[in-house]
Amino acid sequence: MRNLPTLTDQPFDLIVIGGGINGAATARDAALRGLRTILLEKNDFAGGTTSWSSRLIHGGLRYLEYFEFHLVRESLHEREVLLRNAPHLAKPLQMTIPIYRSGSRSFRIIQVGMVLYDVLSYDKSLPNHRMLSRQKTRQLFRAVDADGLAGAAQYYDGQAEHAERLCLENILDAQTAGATVLNYAKVEDIHLTNQRITGLTCRDGLTNDTFEVATHDQTVVVNTSGPWVDEVCGLSESPVSRGQKIGGTKGSHIIVDAFPGAPDSALYVEAKSDGRPFFIIPWLGQYLIGTTDERYDGALDNIKADAAEVDYLLAETNAVLPAGRLTREDVRFTYAGVRPLPYAEGKKAGSISRDHILHDHSKEGATNLISLIGGKLTTHRQVGEEFVNAAFRKRGEAVPACPTHTRPLPGAILLDDPRVAQWCDRYTPLLSSQTLDHLLGIYGARTLDLLALVDASPELAQPIGEGLLDIQAQIVFAVRHEMAHTFVDILRRRTTVCMHRNYGFDVLPVVAQVLREHCGWSEEMCDRNIRTYHQFMETNCIPDYALKQESPSLQTA
Ligand SMILES: Cc1cc2nc3c(=O)[nH]c(=O)nc-3n(C[C@H](O)[C@H](O)[C@H](O)COP(=O)(O)OP(=O)(O)OC[C@H]3O[C@@H](n4cnc5c(N)ncnc54)[C@H](O)[C@@H]3O)c2cc1C
Repeated sequence: MRNLPTLTDQPFDLIVIGGGINGAATARDAALRGLRTILLEKNDFAGGTTSWSSRLIHGGLRYLEYFEFHLVRESLHEREVLLRNAPHLAKPLQMTIPIYRSGSRSFRIIQVGMVLYDVLSYDKSLPNHRMLSRQKTRQLFRAVDADGLAGAAQYYDGQAEHAERLCLENILDAQTAGATVLNYAKVEDIHLTNQRITGLTCRDGLTNDTFEVATHDQTVVVNTSGPWVDEVCGLSESPVSRGQKIGGTKGSHIIVDAFPGAPDSALYVEAKSDGRPFFIIPWLGQYLIGTTDERYDGALDNIKADAAEVDYLLAETNAVLPAGRLTREDVRFTYAGVRPLPYAEGKKAGSISRDHILHDHSKEGATNLISLIGGKLTTHRQVGEEFVNAAFRKRGEAVPACPTHTRPLPGAILLDDPRVAQWCDRYTPLLSSQTLDHLLGIYGARTLDLLALVDASPELAQPIGEGLLDIQAQIVFAVRHEMAHTFVDILRRRTTVCMHRNYGFDVLPVVAQVLREHCGWSEEMCDRNIRTYHQFMETNCIPDYALKQESPSLQTA
């Protein structure tokens, strides 16, 4: 499948560097509009910021305070497009803001914000907001701290529980439309001739070989490498960029099991200690709590939540939901990422714009390079559209109509589609209805392709681990149909298994056995993967304090 040496024979119209959500959306749009496209991702698809986000498809209520009305409007429009084109992956999420008399925003101010949010989403399919009295709030959220409570605001946003798969489905659609999409393909060198990028040298992360990507006179190169944008710009011998473009901020999350007083729907809370907003979000039977927001200029490749961030999120959750009494022991998983925000000297992290800029490097040394500065998960389709429009303009060609407004993602299906009931009837004896619902929530219409593996090998209907709804067929499907190459790809990004129990360590023998039996992986390959899996969890997800405690549950290497 990865015939890399041949890439030099086929110059591309558009080269996308970075396979996060924005690169994926750009490659998809470009291929659909007929450009010969290649996407190069150094890690796995969605392996960067995209897999470390809060997974909200939101307008960004907070941006109203900075008068970024166009950004809110654009995001709310994109929220609607996603709910329509990917209903299996983007779902409505009810959000409640408890309002306290001691808070920095009064009941009335929040009400004004809510009205504006509704006005800016006038064409939405979701309900408008409602304001709740103190009494009503107490009735609906008994566990919320009542001290100084003035009431609440309730509204809707969207949630992509599997943000990684949203990215993957863009990649798969790009591939179907003819794009070459490569994970584990790192751009190491950018070649410039007469201020044009005329080729790239890349390294295949699976074989360690290098390969070349060829260009022609009209090739446009798009740099969607998120927080790595400046690093990628630095890969050419002559400068292609002037000054720092990205000024990232670090955001961390914790995942906990359901706890006493945990709400049925999401809470958007102002932290008591510093007034920062954070979310407590029901997520796949657990709770995703975050995020922090701190200036970050450290190494980008392996980032993890530190003890102070974990303690802050625990303390603030306990402050609003005191019955929870959450401690470090309750934390099942942590993750952190760097927001690729525009560099803004001296600004407070929370006040830096979340808007995106397409930065054309023509005047800086590369006439066919455009970089993305900023951008949200929510607005990826719009970013893709803008990049492809810009690419056509750069090529001096008329811009064809963008197809992604209305084109569903590959797994798009509504749960009330009659086909869903038929599939459920067909597979119910083998799989519980809970399992089928779980699979439909991950794969949507592609569930049928997944279950074809079960038809051929019924033993693949077994769960990956005790108490998990994920089944062994997902391991094979990830490798055969979704370009997964490692245990981390399978357990962290094609599925969410690692975030459900003991960092996924318990299920590693099962994964190895399935891969040996069904995908021809050798014993040595599986052992190597188990080691790198442990390394990944220790470097990115298990807090240092937990590693130091040498908890017996982590001793499974
Ligand atoms: C804590 C946190 C919470 C967030 N929550 C939300 C939210 O709830 N809703 C929302 O809309 N947005 C949210 N965001 C923002 C959103 O996640 C990001 O803006 C978005 O995912 C960025 O996507 P991207 O594709 O631009 O970058 P990335 O996902 O970082 O992708 C860039 C890719 O480029 C690759 N790359 C780097 N160098 C090279 C190279 N040399 N060769 C090849 N590939 C390379 C990287 O490996 C990476 O995969 C959040 C961000 C953070 C950090």
